[in-house]
Amino acid sequence: MTEGLSIDPTKPSIARVYDYLLGGKDNYAVDREVGDVFKRDLPGSVAIAFANRAALTRAVREIATTTGVRQFIDLGSGLPTADNVHEVAQRHAPESRVIYVDTDPQVLVHGRALLERNEHTRVVAADVREPEAIRNHPDTVELIDFEQPVAVMFSAILHHVNDEEDPAAIVRYWKDQVPSGSYFFVSHFRSGNNAETAEAETVLQQTFGRGRWRTDEEILALLDGLEILEPGVVPASLWHPDEVTGTDGPWRGQAPRELTVWEHLIAATLARKP
Ligand code: SAM
Repeated sequence: MTEGLSIDPTKPSIARVYDYLLGGKDNYAVDREVGDVFKRDLPGSVAIAFANRAALTRAVREIATTTGVRQFIDLGSGLPTADNVHEVAQRHAPESRVIYVDTDPQVLVHGRALLERNEHTRVVAADVREPEAIRNHPDTVELIDFEQPVAVMFSAILHHVNDEEDPAAIVRYWKDQVPSGSYFFVSHFRSGNNAETAEAETVLQQTFGRGRWRTDEEILALLDGLEILEPGVVPASLWHPDEVTGTDGPWRGQAPRELTVWEHLIAATLARKP
């Protein structure tokens, strides 16, 4: 468990660099320096972050409006930004309950400040690689009814789990905890087996010691035993894209169009436990 860790403004954090790329203000000079290196060496970083966030938003809306699921566990939730999972879910289904989980102490501080008055939402400090601790955390036990379907959100988190840490076992743990009719959203760095992917992996590994670009087949393998819903594993911008009009919130969806080379580097998919 990570409760009690203090914020270190001298070391870049994944959550704060991501916040910087999304145009947020919850970051320090050290995060902006790294973010600027990403922007220079990996000019698609901002596009990847936006495409990811927009797909997450559409997935939450899809789950809230079409499945009847009213409880979400958002693993590696990141710093609060525009249209957080509980805001999207509760906009469509006000009774929705959300557990946010992150290791970054700043996520805890900001998350708790934002969510203070929302009785249907909690922020848990825990490591996604220790799923049992998350499952048995008092806030999870209080808010989530594991007899009812749950939406488990792995948005831009499994690529921060290296192969030797067994990301498939993490997904399997949650699959075994939730009942049939539960949903699993995954967005993930997507390998194109090309120069852009190789460069992106090098930059991430050099900075954080993690950041694994997986092929569509490798991403599918993480979801073994689950029913992959249409349109399968696709670039995040192509996962149920919105029409240009009728978008939901600030993460504007895009009508189907030619993607940039960078947008191919982030995948999204939604699966269901049969
Ligand atoms: N899920 C959000 C989204 O898709 O917009 C945020 C994604 S951000 C790229 C990744 C988040 O995962 C960061 O906030 C980081 O602190 C968190 N994270 C990284 N490794 C983690 C771990 N082992 N356990 C929990 N959180 C982790």
